[in-house]
Amino acid sequence: MNALAAPFVEGLARHELRYQRCTGCGHAQTLARYACAACGSTRLEWKAAAGMATVHAVTVVARAPSDEFRALAPYTLVLVTLDEGPRLMAHAAPGVRIGERVSAGFFAHAGHVLVRFTPEAEPAPD
Ligand SMILES: [Zn+2]
Repeated sequence: MNALAAPFVEGLARHELRYQRCTGCGHAQTLARYACAACGSTRLEWKAAAGMATVHAVTVVARAPSDEFRALAPYTLVLVTLDEGPRLMAHAAPGVRIGERVSAGFFAHAGHVLVRFTPEAEPAPD
């Protein structure tokens, strides 16, 4: 984890999902970068996302890429689009579907706080 991403990691520890927003053009991005991916401005600020997102892609990982994640396998990874705009790769509840509305939660694993999306609660019927 590099120093650029430190605010993102600090946010996770507080159960906050942070993203970078360019003060020049308003572009939002989740990968910690030195400059805006859209306009090149270096005037970036960190914002906390509300945690609501839409699932863009789903992958079930059967074989963990590292010892750290072997205890979790099989697990579900999703690429989501946050309501604020940026895309984020994170863990998710098994069975989530593309296009589904999800909300962010957090869990601790091997000394890190990780993001896990679960389906948004169904509105109660009248
Ligand atoms: Zn920009």
